[in-house]
Amino acid sequence: MKSHTAYLTFNTAERCEIINITSKVEEELAKSGIKEGLCLVNAMHITSSVFINDNEPGLHSDFLEWVEKLAPYSADGYKHNLTGEDNGDAHLKRTIMGREVVVAVTGGELDFGPWERIFYGEFDGQRAKRVLVKIIGE
Ligand code: ZN
Repeated sequence: MKSHTAYLTFNTAERCEIINITSKVEEELAKSGIKEGLCLVNAMHITSSVFINDNEPGLHSDFLEWVEKLAPYSADGYKHNLTGEDNGDAHLKRTIMGREVVVAVTGGELDFGPWERIFYGEFDGQRAKRVLVKIIGE
């Protein structure tokens, strides 16, 4: 069995942002040389997400507005912020949007459904944060 590990770094301009990272994951798959296997992609920080959905800008706005309604930013509105942080909302947003995705690798390609793409969801950005890509197979 072969394996390939990569760490992608993102430093978003905005505090909350959604980035299409599909092509970056595909680059790692090409480097791996793996044709049949599994590709794990996970956020390494507890205030950001990796998820699969549609590459449609209106939907991305909908996601950001939805999580803001569920867990609005508030410097003093969360018990977590008693630690001195201000990102209680971002931990909750991350949990809603998910930590990781696993995509099958078939014939050397990510075996997506017709509209599936991989996104990085940032909820406490403007600093360097990492995403792990681990691909295993033959
Ligand atoms: Zn925190």
